[in-house]
Amino acid sequence: MLRRLGFVGALALVTAAAPAQTPNLGYDDTPMQPNGRWRIHDSRRPQPRVVTAGARPGDAPSDAIRLLGPDSDLSRWRMHDGSAITWKLAGGVLESAKGLIETTDRFSDFQLHVEWATPAPPKGDSQARGNSGVFLLGQFEVQVLDSYQNPTYADGQAAALYGQSPPLVNASRGPGEWQSYDIVFTAPRFSGAAMSTPAVATVLHNGVVVHNATAFWGATAHRAIVPYAPEMARGPIALQDHQNPVRFRNIWIRPLAGYDAPQ
Ligand code: MG
Repeated sequence: MLRRLGFVGALALVTAAAPAQTPNLGYDDTPMQPNGRWRIHDSRRPQPRVVTAGARPGDAPSDAIRLLGPDSDLSRWRMHDGSAITWKLAGGVLESAKGLIETTDRFSDFQLHVEWATPAPPKGDSQARGNSGVFLLGQFEVQVLDSYQNPTYADGQAAALYGQSPPLVNASRGPGEWQSYDIVFTAPRFSGAAMSTPAVATVLHNGVVVHNATAFWGATAHRAIVPYAPEMARGPIALQDHQNPVRFRNIWIRPLAGYDAPQ
């Protein structure tokens, strides 16, 4: 008992003596880092803010913008051409229909999580089987396709940067199964009308890395090359209609830079 009281007493003393400000946990006499902004282990360097991670893989972290969740309506979405929304939402699952749907928000750099499923049983072959797409900034497509035992051209299969770069591996699940993309995207930068750094994407398909900081050479196109233009620096997240009923759920995004709130 005496020992316990002693411990409690010592704790109280330490608590009372603790400074109100953050204690100095670093150093002020270490070499400057090459960027010239901070010293190594700099005691004055700000702490990262705290984010609560999702309970399970794929769950939205506390600071994510939920674009599509179990309780979502379509208030964060609109048709690209301004017409009435044709896509069908039920129980947090959004099914493709005629026309390109896009977020009302516009982004530049971000982390994006998307879950999708192609029809089961499968219908069609090659590009006609479960085709949709996630268009980053409305310009750069990460292909959605049923690529489970469904040959097509390499830069058009699931998780391809469409028409540009095939995925490193084919990590596809079967038709009807929920699949995921986790995408870290950096928007292109421009110096006047000239592109200074290209758009870059790192993509995980079902948790498997399929693009490791892969650059786009320009916007996505079919059988064509579209060079960069300054208006490609910012845009919505868009989902493609390719006349196949593809379903989406659990879409969230964490802007890393350059976020425009809905107008
Ligand atoms: Mg597509």
